Amino acid sequence: MAKITGIEVFPLLAKFKKPFSFSGVTRVSSNNVILKINTDEGVYGVGEACPVPAMSGETNIGICAVIKNYFEPLLKGQDPLDLAILTQKVEKCVGSNVVAKAGINIALYDLAGKLLNVPVYQLLGGKYRSEIPINGSVGLGTAEQMLETCEEQMEVAGCKYLKLYAGKEPIETDIPKLKKIIRGVGDRAQCFLDINQQWTPKTAIKAIRSLEEDVPLLYVEQPTAKWDYEGMRFVRENVVTPIAADESVFSLSDITNLARNQACDVITIYALKPGGILRGHQAITMSENLGMDCFIGSYLELGVGTAAGIHLSAAIPKLRYPCYMFGPLKYQYDVLKQDLDIKNGMVKVPEGPGLGIELDMEKLELMKYE
Ligand SMILES: [Mg+2]
Repeated sequence: MAKITGIEVFPLLAKFKKPFSFSGVTRVSSNNVILKINTDEGVYGVGEACPVPAMSGETNIGICAVIKNYFEPLLKGQDPLDLAILTQKVEKCVGSNVVAKAGINIALYDLAGKLLNVPVYQLLGGKYRSEIPINGSVGLGTAEQMLETCEEQMEVAGCKYLKLYAGKEPIETDIPKLKKIIRGVGDRAQCFLDINQQWTPKTAIKAIRSLEEDVPLLYVEQPTAKWDYEGMRFVRENVVTPIAADESVFSLSDITNLARNQACDVITIYALKPGGILRGHQAITMSENLGMDCFIGSYLELGVGTAAGIHLSAAIPKLRYPCYMFGPLKYQYDVLKQDLDIKNGMVKVPEGPGLGIELDMEKLELMKYE
């Protein structure tokens, strides 16, 4: 039986290729933390915590501190194959800190897969598909800038789906702009919107109905405030386009509450938001049982967190929407020896034990946060 001997943390400054804007935030870099859970057998598991302070409230410094001061002492000497038991211990030992907890859970899954010599998707019961359709991600800008990004992402990654961020401008200017972009993309890709809670329910209905009249729209993500389930339901009942919940869903109980209020059609699950692969997999099962579609989103993780998202995407029995596995393409460098295989708008599910990836220690040094 392998025993956990310690956890190493590698705080990074990961720079984006170009600035990326959504709602009120413009990001030029991301303070991701890569971590390694070591064992007495020399085998280790790799995880990633990708904090977006505006979303989960966590920072890289906080993540490193909570891992070293709380999670490492708790996990030392434990059998890493006790995945669910260790996950619950980690969850109970400190409140919140979901992204840090997710980093640990991802590393535990990578470690368990390596110890058992199976890919993570087999720990989840097998893969329903070997390739996952991905969506591009088009930050806020003028119609021309956003169309240029659409062209780039259709060309470089072969994206057949594009997520357009919107909602910051009044709908009188936003809606004609979005129509222009979606018409410009034409039938080369299907577009959907992420509003990041910026519309009121009435504005959302007016805007979505106007778009529905003129252009195809796959779905609209989080059009209104995350806490306003009644508002979300009001929107959902007054438009044809499916409504997806993102900021409204962190924990498994959020999914129950959304279903109870009939507030959305689609649930956005990340590897990081519910606290890792175990809870993410449970969230998939819950969504399906409650009659809602789901797909895997992201905080724009580097290769490690993205690989965790890909294994989860492979484990969704009925996947009707693309998954947001675009993170590695947004950064100047990734942390893997071999990049994830993304082409023709699809990412291949990595094979090999654990997450099926290998860390490049030189890149970690190059990207070190100081
Ligand atoms: Mg979103």
